[in-house]
This record gives sequence, C-alpha cells and structure tokens, in this order.
Amino acid sequence: MKTMSKFGWMTEELTRLKGQNLYRKLRLLEDIKGTEATIDGRKVTLFCGNDYLGLSQHPGLIEAAKQALETSGVGTGSARLISGTQKWHTALEDRIACFLGKERALLFSSGYLANLGVLSALTQSGDTVILDKLSHASLIDAARLADKTVRVYPHKNLDYLEKILKGAKTGRSWIVTDSIFSMDGDLAPLADLVELKNRYGAYLVIDEAHGTGIFGESGRGVAEHFHVSNEIDIHVGTLSKAIGSFGGFVAGQSELIDYLVNFARPFIFETALPPSICAASIKAFDLIEEQLDFRKCLWQNIKMLRKGLGEIGAPLLEGESPIVPVIFGDEKKTLKAAEFLLKEGFLIPAVRYPTVPKGKARLRITVSRVHSDDQINRLIKTFKRLSSLAD
Ligand code: PMP
Repeated sequence: MKTMSKFGWMTEELTRLKGQNLYRKLRLLEDIKGTEATIDGRKVTLFCGNDYLGLSQHPGLIEAAKQALETSGVGTGSARLISGTQKWHTALEDRIACFLGKERALLFSSGYLANLGVLSALTQSGDTVILDKLSHASLIDAARLADKTVRVYPHKNLDYLEKILKGAKTGRSWIVTDSIFSMDGDLAPLADLVELKNRYGAYLVIDEAHGTGIFGESGRGVAEHFHVSNEIDIHVGTLSKAIGSFGGFVAGQSELIDYLVNFARPFIFETALPPSICAASIKAFDLIEEQLDFRKCLWQNIKMLRKGLGEIGAPLLEGESPIVPVIFGDEKKTLKAAEFLLKEGFLIPAVRYPTVPKGKARLRITVSRVHSDDQINRLIKTFKRLSSLAD
C-alpha cells in the first residue's frame, strides 16, 4: 500500500492553491542595474519595487557602505543590549530623529519587526487596537500578538472608527494605520485621525513605510504632508524603500524609546544591524535633504505614468503616490496580464490574495525617480495593447 509521504499534505495544499490561481514562486533576477534586470536570459524593466528614489544603487550609499565594511566588518555578532551598539547605530538613530524632528529613534532589523515590537510591547490586556481594514500584514500580525481586543474599521471609514473609540470602555485605545496603503497607494486621512485620537485620548501609531523620503515638503512623510508631524505619537518606518537600504525604525518621545528598549522583544532579541547598512542609510538621509530634485523627478514620473495610463482607460485606482494599482479583479486574468507584460519586457507581478482581498487581484505598478521617460512611455503603450487584447 502506498502511504503518503510526511510532507504529502503540503503538496496537497499547494495543489489547492494552484487550482485557485494563488500559487506563488520565486523568480531569479540577475544583473540588476537601476530599473533593468535579466530574467531567464531576457532583459526586463522593473516597475514593481519600492526603491522609489533609486537610492539602492546610488554611488554615495555604496561608498558609505564600503567604508563602514572596511573599518567595522560585516556583522555585529550581538544584540544591541549586549555588545551590538556601535557608533553606526547611534549615529543613524540620531540622524532619523533629527530628520523627522522627533526626540529619539530606535532601529529594528526590519519595518516588519518594528511593527511587531511596537504593538506587542505597548499594548496591554484590556486595551483596544483599532486597525484600518487595509493595514499592512505586519500591523495585522502585530495586533494579533497579544491578549487585547483587536477591532477593524472599513477602509478610511472614520464614523465607524469613532464608534469603536466610543465603545472602548477599558484600557487604552490605539489607532493604527499605514500612512500610504501599500497595495492601494492612497493616503490615510491623518489630520482627521489626529483630531479623533485627541478627542478620545487615544494613541496614534502610523507606519510611514511608503511615505518616508517622498511625501511632505522635506520628504519627512505623509504626516509632514498633512502638517501633523508633531501630533503623531508613534512613527514607524522602514529603511528598505525610498531610503534604499535595509532595516526599520520607530521614532518618538524619549520615554517611548526607553520603554521599547526594555519591552520590545524583537529589539531585545535580534542582532544589531550591520554597520555598512547603517552608514548607507545615513548617506541616504543626507541625499534626501540635499538633493531636492530627487523628489521632483519622482513626482514628474508619477504624474506622467498616471496621466498616460488614465488616458488609455486603464482601470487605475485614483491616488497620488508612486504606487499605481491597475485592478483586474479575477486572479487568472491578472496572472495572464502579468505574463503578457513579462513577455513584452516588464516585470510587474500579479498581486493576489492574501496580499489583497480575493477577487481584487491587481498589477501593482510602482514608479521610481530613475525610470526614464522612454521606459514609462513604453509601459503605457504596452498597457494599451494589453487592454485591446482583453477586449
Ligand atoms: N509596512 C508596510 C506598509 C510595508 O509595505 C512594508 C514592506 N512591504 C513593511 C511595513 C515592512 O517593512 P520591511 O520591508 O522593512 O520589513
């Protein structure tokens, strides 16, 4: 009798995913240069990453990382609270705090872990954590970690949020939101959220992963864009998107940072970030402050892409960010569209459940400062052919 292997149930689960067009697999990119790479021996243009300012390959960041590698080595070999705190970490934390106009900042090894650290450390039994329905997975996972009430309000529905705030009778209330929603590319109504949190004595935690370096007069993020930076209680960010580097951070008041050093388990138990990563990140903040044309170029590209796709009638989600989702709905249709684009030389993978709700599959186009006019125009033309094929 043939018995199922110990791992056979995994194969069954994966077969089920394939049947639902939800199976995912890794794709190898080689020879990445700016917005171009090679996949299976063919050159493609990338319109799907989060390196919005094209800093991940900037010579200034590479040089800063090299120098730190030479003087301080590759890894830190220790958690921050043991022997892992070096001048690189304190300098980067000071740089982030100064850039954001906050008292202090604290590094984590990713934005994901920063979110886990913040929500698991700060919230207590009896508290209510209130999330926008489209919050990033790391915020949802973080909210699920401890034994408190988690409530979700429909996307940007402030009346519903207010009802939850009114009904929260015990403990503290924590309003938690992305500042830019990562799959829809729209902005959270931060000024209204500030008003509500003040009225109900709640805390406001924002995840500025996609806002840092892009929004606001000086690139400080969506909170700066809405002129509410000083009203944000807890600011979480990542160094892995517009900053072009790696790692996450939390910024806020000094007591908050001391508290996280003592209670945020990801911070306490993870190894400190490599010096080269810290040095490159510091350089990125310098460039964002000095090179005002970086953001200007990015915004020109955003406008050009959105306008061009709008003119050919692509089913775009309206918005004002470098995240430009084209909604197909059906998973199979979206996969086919992604395949067509790849054949035509563009990598824009299909985004499907569980990243977005079932039946809301999409191509999430992202545009960066370093895309050329020619690349953007070619993409728009290719989308036009794609829509005529679908008709
Ligand atoms: N928050 C949001 C909104 C994100 O989009 C991401 C990355 N996809 C993260 C947090 C996680 O950041 P990191 O990649 O640094 O872990």
